[in-house]
Amino acid sequence: MNGEEPNKFHLNQFSRTLISWHKNNGRHNLPWQKEISPYKVWISEVMLQQTQVKTVLPYFKKFVEKYPNIKALSNAKLDDILILWTGLGYYRRAENLYKTSQILKEKYRYKFPELYEDIISLPGIGRSTAGAILSLAYNKKYPILDGNVKRVIKRYFAIRSSKEDEKNLWYISESLLPNKNNNIYTQSIMDLGSLVCLKNSPTCYACPIKKNCMSNKLNLTNVIPAKNIKVNKKKTLKLYLIIIQNFKNKKLVLMKKNNNNGIWANLWNLPSFEKKTEYKKFIKNNNLDSNIKKYDNIKHNLTHLSLDIDILKIELCKIRDFDNYSWKNIYDNIGLSKPVVMIINKLKKEIDK
Ligand code: SF4
Repeated sequence: MNGEEPNKFHLNQFSRTLISWHKNNGRHNLPWQKEISPYKVWISEVMLQQTQVKTVLPYFKKFVEKYPNIKALSNAKLDDILILWTGLGYYRRAENLYKTSQILKEKYRYKFPELYEDIISLPGIGRSTAGAILSLAYNKKYPILDGNVKRVIKRYFAIRSSKEDEKNLWYISESLLPNKNNNIYTQSIMDLGSLVCLKNSPTCYACPIKKNCMSNKLNLTNVIPAKNIKVNKKKTLKLYLIIIQNFKNKKLVLMKKNNNNGIWANLWNLPSFEKKTEYKKFIKNNNLDSNIKKYDNIKHNLTHLSLDIDILKIELCKIRDFDNYSWKNIYDNIGLSKPVVMIINKLKKEIDK
């Protein structure tokens, strides 16, 4: 640690100050805070992994409307969950929600477990998500360490190392916990990170803990946390997608459900190829050489990958079927990746003209 070694009084003061600040300055109206339950906290925390609150809000609302409790969710099919997840990204999270719902049904009789060891063993739940569920829903004394909390801790104690010392940060996060009101405390440190101790330009003048914050005292808020110097450039993946419209009904396009692997596991996809030779072969083998039109390319960014997607559109001039593919109506509610949603929305506009 680079700053002052915290003493017990100092740490108690930290949580006390944040709890009292939260009363008038924290967030109290998030939908998962109303009639709080372990189920709602679990769904919201999973949605919030890698995703901002404002993006999550409409997804959470729709999700709990359709699946208001564990029982309803455990009776859902994975495909139905993926439909609600369409556009939210990181689709593995939806699959893990589904797997967890089955465990909650079979092992816990629709009750969310209360023990850390049980919660952490559920698919898609790491230490921070488990800590959030235990503190926010059960008011138990467990730490969290999401991006916001990490930033607050690093700045408060002026921890400069760019190499993340997770063990050290977990230790500090745990040391800061109060003996009561852990639910309010957890929400307050999350809110401080997201409303005041912002990534760029933190508003220190409005911060309740500015007096003892080492980064504020030493003018280090611009350099802590250290920026990750990206040595490796994002990899670009070239994809070739083909829109094949049905002869009789232009709203029907050829699709195939992805298998259980890859970034868009279990989602429906247009005929998609990673190599130009593959998609040329598909066109040749299926006698699709006529009526081919070039469609606008799409560029789409994922966390570690940039996608550069070439798209062709083919309107069939006779009725036919394709092995391993199905005709799907573009107005059907099915789980789709974001680029496919963008393509389908464009098609809808063309058809509805
Ligand atoms: S004083 Fe500034 S840097 Fe320190 S915790 Fe508050 S907002 Fe963050």
